[in-house]
Amino acid sequence: MKTAARFDHYRVLPGAKLDLSKIDQEGDGKLDKDDAKALFEEERASIIASQEKLYAEGKQSLLIVLQAMDAGGKDGTIEDVFRGVNPQGCRVSSFKVPTAEELAHDFLWRVHAQAPGKGQITIFNRSHYEDVLVVRVKNIVPESVWRPRYALINDFERLLATSGTRVLKFFLHISKKEQKKRFESRLADENDRWKWSPGDLVERALWDRYEEAYEGALGECSTEAAPWYVIPADKKWLRNAMVAHLVAAMLRDMDPRFPPPLPDLGRVKIPD
Ligand code: ATP
Ligand code: MG
Repeated sequence: MKTAARFDHYRVLPGAKLDLSKIDQEGDGKLDKDDAKALFEEERASIIASQEKLYAEGKQSLLIVLQAMDAGGKDGTIEDVFRGVNPQGCRVSSFKVPTAEELAHDFLWRVHAQAPGKGQITIFNRSHYEDVLVVRVKNIVPESVWRPRYALINDFERLLATSGTRVLKFFLHISKKEQKKRFESRLADENDRWKWSPGDLVERALWDRYEEAYEGALGECSTEAAPWYVIPADKKWLRNAMVAHLVAAMLRDMDPRFPPPLPDLGRVKIPD
C-alpha cells in the first residue's frame, strides 16, 4: 500500500522497537502554524469531496482508530477533522468499559460488529487496543492472555484489509505537562467540567506504564495493512493538520469514483 510521503517519518515501522520518549509531542518544527492551518483546510475539503465519492461508489471502506491518554484530543480531532463530512456515510464508535454481554464474548466481538460497511468511514474512539493497553496496565488479565492478542489483532486487521477496508491508526501523543494543563482548564471551564472524571488522576499516575504499553502495542501492531502513526498532539493545529492530511491522502489513494451514469439519461423525460 502506498502511504503519504509527508509525515511518513511518524509511521511506526513494522517490527521496529518504538521509543515514545524520542518523539517530541510538539512536533519537529517543520510546519509552522499558518501553513498547518492552510494544509488543514485544504485537506478537510479533500476529505469531504472524497467521502461523497466513497459513499456513492459503495465498494470500499475506511476505518480510523484513535487512541490517546486522557485529554489527548480524541474527541477534538473527530470534531475538527470530520466536520462537514456527510453523517450518512460516517460513524463514530466509542469503546467504553465492556458490558457483561461483551465480556462474555471474545475481545474482538464488539469491535468487529462496528467495522465499517462498504462506502462507509468509521472512526473508533478507543478501540480493540484497549484490550492490550488498559487491560495490561491494570492487570485485568494476565500477560499470557494479553500478549497473544497482538497477533490476533494483526490477523483481524488483515482480515479487514483483505475485505476492502483500509485501516489507519493514530496515537495522539501528548506530554504529561500538556495533560496537566488540559485537566486544569477542564476543571476551570463550566462547559468542560463534565469531561472530568476522578479516575483520570488514577490513570495519570500510571503514565509510564501506559507509555510502555503503547510502545508495545504500536510496535507489534503497525503493519503494512494497518499502520500506526504517532501524532505529536500538544499543539492542536499541528495534530489536526497531520491527521487531516493522512486521512485525505489515504482517501486519494483509495480513489473512489462516482458510479458511471446509466446510458441515455439525456433522453429521460420526467412526466408532469
Ligand atoms: P474519553 O476519556 O476517551 O473521552 P469518556 O471519558 O467519554 O472517554 P470513559 O468512560 O472515561 O469515557 O472512557 C472509557 C473508559 O473505558 C476508559 O477508561 C477506557 O480505558 C475503558 N475501556 C475501554 N475499553 C476497555 C476494555 N476493553 N477493558 C477495560 N476498560 C476499557
Ligand atoms: Mg475519560
